Amino acid sequence: MKSGILGGLFLASMALRAFAADPSIFTWKTGVFEVNMLVETRSAGRPTILLGTTPAQIAQYFPDGTYQSEVNTFLVRGNGHTVVVDTGFGGAIFENMKQLGVKPEDVDAVLITHMHGDHIGGLQKDGKPLFPKARVYLAKQERDYWVDTAANAGARSALAPYGAKVETFLPGSISGGAEILPGIRAAAAFGHTPGHTVFLLESNGEKLLIWGDLMHVQGIQFPLPDTSVSYDTDPIAAAASRRQILDYAAKNKVPIAGMHLVYPAIGQVESAGAGYRFVPAK
Ligand SMILES: [Zn+2]
Repeated sequence: MKSGILGGLFLASMALRAFAADPSIFTWKTGVFEVNMLVETRSAGRPTILLGTTPAQIAQYFPDGTYQSEVNTFLVRGNGHTVVVDTGFGGAIFENMKQLGVKPEDVDAVLITHMHGDHIGGLQKDGKPLFPKARVYLAKQERDYWVDTAANAGARSALAPYGAKVETFLPGSISGGAEILPGIRAAAAFGHTPGHTVFLLESNGEKLLIWGDLMHVQGIQFPLPDTSVSYDTDPIAAAASRRQILDYAAKNKVPIAGMHLVYPAIGQVESAGAGYRFVPAK
């Protein structure tokens, strides 16, 4: 019994060490866009956040009882814009940008997938904008829910320093959708939050879908995409959005990028049985 527990801990710590050794920046090209995936944090979580899973599924997909996760942000440069997609907690993002020679004042647009703290934490500090030259873009449904309906203090203070530079939009469908900036469209993927949005880059016939929090636990949500998590405001709608976007990405061979996928956090989705599998980019 005792050696079993120690053995399990040893395996978990080995896995964590390999995971922690991954670099903190991964670079990808989509036509004229250079995309940098920036790792904000890495952690091991317990699959207790999953909804509706059986003990047998937990044992199958999480043999050591944990899953690895990241908080990521994305820097996108091209078509005359320097764009940040989500801001993480406002920690490593700035060091990672510095390594790439990008200053916060170089960023002219911040796109927000949704208003959870691990996505808007880098917008402001002490009431001052951390991206002083940027306009902030987010879905009207998302702003209205967190700022007005929920009267969430964190959401209000994140946007307040940007004043009239906050631009809201109505996300479209994954195959249509509103163009926010040249070559960047916004599509609705509601469910995780009321206005959760994904951003589709398109340039020279290439695409990349930055899908925010469409998925939190990749080890089980690719093969069993109907599995939602306790963080989802509407777990049923979140699962429907996940199914729809996984189907789109697999059928159209559109690479995807996620805020909680592990390094490189960019790759291809393929159909596999009743679900999907992820093929990380190299
Ligand atoms: Zn998140």
